[in-house]
Amino acid sequence: MKKLVNILRTEHHLDNSGYKALLESDDHEIITYLHEQAHEVAIEMFGKGIFVRGLVELTNVCRNDCYYCGIRKSNSNVKRYILSTEQVLHSCQQGYNLGFRTFVLQGGELPQEKASWLVDLVSEIRQRWSDCAITLSLGEWPWEVYERLRQAGADRYLLRHESHNAEHYSKLHPTKMSLANRLQCLMWLKELGYQVGTGIMVGSPWQSLNNIVEDIEFIENFEPEMIGLGPFVPQHDTPLGNHPAGSADLTCKLYSIFRLMFPNALIPSTTALNSISPNGRILGIMAGANVVMPNLSPNEYRANYALYDGKAITNAEAAEGIKQLEAQLATIGYHINWSRGDYNQC
Ligand code: SAH
Repeated sequence: MKKLVNILRTEHHLDNSGYKALLESDDHEIITYLHEQAHEVAIEMFGKGIFVRGLVELTNVCRNDCYYCGIRKSNSNVKRYILSTEQVLHSCQQGYNLGFRTFVLQGGELPQEKASWLVDLVSEIRQRWSDCAITLSLGEWPWEVYERLRQAGADRYLLRHESHNAEHYSKLHPTKMSLANRLQCLMWLKELGYQVGTGIMVGSPWQSLNNIVEDIEFIENFEPEMIGLGPFVPQHDTPLGNHPAGSADLTCKLYSIFRLMFPNALIPSTTALNSISPNGRILGIMAGANVVMPNLSPNEYRANYALYDGKAITNAEAAEGIKQLEAQLATIGYHINWSRGDYNQC
């Protein structure tokens, strides 16, 4: 088994049976070895600096109805909001003053008629902070909207494919949504020159290890610049609210597998991982992750952006807790790397 890890480190590829064997293994020695190798590669590539991205949760209004997501259209218990342009700019300014050089605008999928507002918002951020990267995580749009957003100055786009198995995908989403469209969007984003991130929820309902192997295969072929992986966490107002949360250990295993596969990739130690595991953020970094995304959203809206139950919204998860984050990173000899942190520039 250690041989598999060594092959993955040197050749950046295994066949499917190799990935499956690593995912299945509960041998503590092997798992520790996998994490150590991935951690070593991350240090070789990035040193002991962790990139930070300031997350602005733009809106919880959503036209989609994903069965797992707390802000799905059909959840009538959500108090809906769309931040105003001024609120977004204010959050970015606060983030900039703290040292952030990447802003991530994430949100539910706004109605089509909001596209022009989004384009203007991106233009405004681009003009005010020309030294910052702008990342969007706003779901599925037509080519033309992605193009306008790119021209307005967006650099990166995060769009998890969620599952590369069409049958599994259809258990997590209503029939109106399709894996084919999700994948089409990812191709468009790449063609438009965005740095693209994709990924999955680990342990989503009905996900088998074979499904995860399919996801690994897809990600390997797609070659994203960023890989977003967090455990599924149930949200009580959703149809999947009674399913158990995904595993932190499996999530960390995947961080390591992808670090060995793509030494340069930007892999966040996600909020979802930190929400289900007390020391999740550090465990993710020790497994090879190299990015964290503290929250810059105005305080009064944070609780309304409840994608899942128990989402960490305070302390080091919030930008004002940056000192705490620095202290936490210092416990493992790490520090924040405040640069834009583009792909390859390491
Ligand atoms: N509307 C955008 C942004 C969605 S939120 C989009 O579709 O891309 C970003 C990510 O949160 C989603 O891609 C999903 O993987 C994750 N997420 C949503 N609900 C979740 C849950 N219950 N548990 C864990 N992650 C969840």
